[in-house]
Amino acid sequence: MKFRTRAIHVGNEPDPQTGAVVPPIYLATTFIQPGVGEWGEFDYSRSGSPTRKNVETTIADLESGTNALLFASGMAATHCVTMLFQKGDHIIANRDLYGGSYRLLHKICDRSGIEVTLVDVNQPEELKAALRPQTKLLWIETIGNPLMSIPNIRQCVAFAREHNLLLGVDNTFASPALCRPLELGADIVMHSATKYLGGHSDCLVGALVTADPELHKRLYFVQNACGSACGPLEAYLLGRGMKTLEIRMREQCRTAMQIAEHLSQHPKVTRVLYPGLKTHPGHELAREQLNGMFGTMMSFEVNGDLAATKMVCKSTELFGLAVSLGAVESLIAHPATMSHASYAPEARAAAGISDRLIRLSVGLEDPEDLIHDLNQALSKI
Ligand SMILES: *Cc1c(COP(=O)(O)O)cnc(C)c1O
Repeated sequence: MKFRTRAIHVGNEPDPQTGAVVPPIYLATTFIQPGVGEWGEFDYSRSGSPTRKNVETTIADLESGTNALLFASGMAATHCVTMLFQKGDHIIANRDLYGGSYRLLHKICDRSGIEVTLVDVNQPEELKAALRPQTKLLWIETIGNPLMSIPNIRQCVAFAREHNLLLGVDNTFASPALCRPLELGADIVMHSATKYLGGHSDCLVGALVTADPELHKRLYFVQNACGSACGPLEAYLLGRGMKTLEIRMREQCRTAMQIAEHLSQHPKVTRVLYPGLKTHPGHELAREQLNGMFGTMMSFEVNGDLAATKMVCKSTELFGLAVSLGAVESLIAHPATMSHASYAPEARAAAGISDRLIRLSVGLEDPEDLIHDLNQALSKI
C-alpha cells in the first residue's frame, strides 16, 4: 500500500467488538491480569497502552521502521536517546540545531558528564576533527533550523557506520512524507509530533522510530523507567492528524514555494532562506533527499533594523506571532528572541542567526491570502 493509504489504515483497524471504524480511546491506567503471576499484553499504562500502541504502529510504518515509541513531547523523546549514554560519552550534533535540543545537550546532558560538539556535518574535516574515541552519537535534523540547512544524510550514515556511532535524525521539519531517514541507513528517527504529524496545534507528542528491535528495547527500557510516555488523548489526536499528513504537506509545500518566490522578488526583503530556491546552499541536496518537496519553513531578512524586523513580525494578521510550526495555521517567529533564545549570544552568532532573521511556518490557508498578509506587514516599514 502507498503512504497515504497506510496513514489512514495501518494502526486504525476497526474495533472488533463494535465495528467502530475509529478505534476507541482507552483511558485505563491498569489492566486485569489473566492470573497470578501471568501477564497480558498490557498491564500498566506507563509501560504500554492500546491507544498508544495503535498510533505507534502507524508512525513506525510511515517511517519504514519496525517499532516506535510515543513520548509526552519531542524533548522527552530526544532526552530518552541521550539516556542511552553515560559519563564520559560524547555526542556530535549539527550546528543548525533546534534551540530546545541545544539546551538539552548543553545544559542537561553536561550534568551527567556527557559532552557535546557542534559541527557543520557537511564539512568532512570538521566532523573528523570532532570525533573522539568516546563519541557515541551523531545527531542531525533533516532540515536545519532556522537556516534550513540540509545535511547530507548518506554521508552522515557512512561516517556513523565507519566509526561505529548511532545516527539519530530529528525528522520534524521534513516528516516521513518528505524524507524517511531509516531507509537511508539512520538508526533512530525522532519527531516532535507536535508539529506536522499532529498538524493542528492541539497535541504535544514526541516519537522515536527504529528499524532495529534490539535498539528499540534499549530505548523502551529508558522510556518505561523514566515515565515519559504520552497520554491516550494526545496519542489519539496524533493518529487522527497523521491521516492527512501527506496531503497537508504537499499543499503547504506548494504554498511555501510560492511565498518564497514572492519574497525573493520583494523590494523590502534582502535575503530568503528556503531550500526550494536555487540560491539556497542546500538546494541540490534537498532535491535528492526530500521527495520532490522543500518543506513549509523559511527564513528571511528585511531591509531595515531590528525595530523594522519586529514591526513585520507583529503586523501580520493571518501569520500568528508564535513559536512552533507545521500546523494548518501559518505562524511567524523571531528566532533570536523565541526559538533560539536559549542559545548563548555568541553561539547564535556562530550559527548565523542574526537578530534580523524572521521565520515563517506556512500553513494550509489560501496562498493568495497569505501573500497579501505578508505584503501589508512589509508595507509597514
Ligand atoms: C519543536 C521541536 C522539537 C521539540 O519538540 P516538543 O514537542 O516541543 O518537545 C524538537 N526538534 C524540532 C526540530 C522541533 O521543531
